[in-house]
Amino acid sequence: MSTSTELKPSDIRLDERYGPIINNRVEEAADGYMDVVNAATGDVMAQIGRGGQSDIDRAVKAARTAYPKWAETPIEQRSALLNKMADVLEENQERLKLIECMETGRALHEFDLDYQLAIYQFRYFAGAILTYYQGESRPVDNGYLITKKEPLGVCAQIIPWNVPMIMTAFKLAPALAAGNTVVLKPAEDACLSVLEFGKLLSEFLPPGVVNMVPGVGEEAGQALIDHEDVDKLAFTGSVDVGRIIGKTAGERILPVTLELGGKAPHIVFPDVDIDSAVENATLGYTFFNGESCILGTRLLVHDDIYDEFVEKLIERAKEIKIGPPTDRSTRLASIINKKQGERVLNYFNIAREEGAKILYGGNRVTVPGHEHGYFIEPTIIEAEPHMRIAQEEIFGPAATLTRWKEVDEVVEIANDVEYGLAAGIMTTDLENAMTVANKIEAGSIWINSYFNFQSGAPFGGYKNSGVGREYSKEALDEYSQSKTIVAAFKMPPLGTFK
Ligand code: NDP
Repeated sequence: MSTSTELKPSDIRLDERYGPIINNRVEEAADGYMDVVNAATGDVMAQIGRGGQSDIDRAVKAARTAYPKWAETPIEQRSALLNKMADVLEENQERLKLIECMETGRALHEFDLDYQLAIYQFRYFAGAILTYYQGESRPVDNGYLITKKEPLGVCAQIIPWNVPMIMTAFKLAPALAAGNTVVLKPAEDACLSVLEFGKLLSEFLPPGVVNMVPGVGEEAGQALIDHEDVDKLAFTGSVDVGRIIGKTAGERILPVTLELGGKAPHIVFPDVDIDSAVENATLGYTFFNGESCILGTRLLVHDDIYDEFVEKLIERAKEIKIGPPTDRSTRLASIINKKQGERVLNYFNIAREEGAKILYGGNRVTVPGHEHGYFIEPTIIEAEPHMRIAQEEIFGPAATLTRWKEVDEVVEIANDVEYGLAAGIMTTDLENAMTVANKIEAGSIWINSYFNFQSGAPFGGYKNSGVGREYSKEALDEYSQSKTIVAAFKMPPLGTFK
């Protein structure tokens, strides 16, 4: 997608401080503020509230108060408001993209895809809700049976820092469409674009329908999931925190949606055009700065073409432009923060210690004027499938390479991992493609074109990658519950119960 506006970082005006957005007002944060910094330069962009118990209490109360009216709002009106959310996001996208680019450190050009997906989410659910209510209605003996869908109530939603606006849209759109109200906690490292969007929503959504509380996960996030007046938990992030949230949901018998990590295999058959396969593989492991759960980070390449593929993959990696995030020609930019950057580099050390071979990359590079940032080379590592580098989520621009010869063997390697979010297959042979696609344990499988997101296709994980589905009509089920009403025309005749 091209962009006509050429906004510069110096054009961006932010508020000095962002407290929680409650009842359509930005309130003072009860527990103080902390800095949000530009991931690449380290400059303080703004301050956000720490988001303690008091902020969460007020936000949940607002969502609870708004709930009955929102749940009863006719679907045509909810649909119209969701379309308006899409319009507002579309109108303001260039500014929000730039803010998000600066706080995440990811390359600006990538946000064209992020915002396309986010805008689409609101439009999709604006339409989907109009055709969702197709409950059963049938005559039964002496009466009638009706099944209907009802919303759940107040939803607690927690999102990560890697793709803030995609996550905001994935969470808000189905929840609101289904008639729920929301308290959203964005990630402390990347929440300014989300809070700015929240301010725009406050201009037209009924008060209390969407509330946002910035803050620290262990404080604001924990207080939100533990709040006794929330009816649903939805989370995207690490498996460790996913377990905490799943456990809380279990203890309180709450419905939960979890979208956790990934370690996707990307399988290359020998019949491919190697140049195209290398291009697709490179996109698959470097997009989103390597900081995404859906990346194709385990390249499984057939023995017949392995050497040529590797050579070309390295050549392609050398061409990737590492540079300032806000430069539209940059293709790889800064990791979100020092902790995450060091974590990625540490994985390269683990790989070396395990005996894996770093064929290219593996280093942090300096981008002048952006010394604070963790810019990491695209990294290609030859590894055995059991090694940690080939099993654990790295969340940086790195792929492992493993050779295979037999189809059964590659299926076994592909599935021998705790995750199951996505997978890729490259081949011109439809039988191979479909046979392997059927056997891979993953929620999304892209044949010959990685990241091929399509309208309304369910998105979510097998195994430790999560519970539930988003992005599709199935998400409306995640935010609704069914009710059966059986109406008898008359009471049972007297004497039925003796
Ligand atoms: P986390 O899972 O810690 O963070 C995700 C969100 O959960 C953030 O909003 C965070 O708050 C919040 N959170 C943290 N602890 C709690 C808690 N106890 N209760 C409620 N909410 C909480 O991910 P990290 O940012 O630490 O990233 C670590 C790893 O997780 C990455 O390296 C990657 O492997 C994986 N990850 C996966 C993502 C995915 O899309 N599946 C996205 C991000 C990370 P806070 O604002 O404090 O960060």
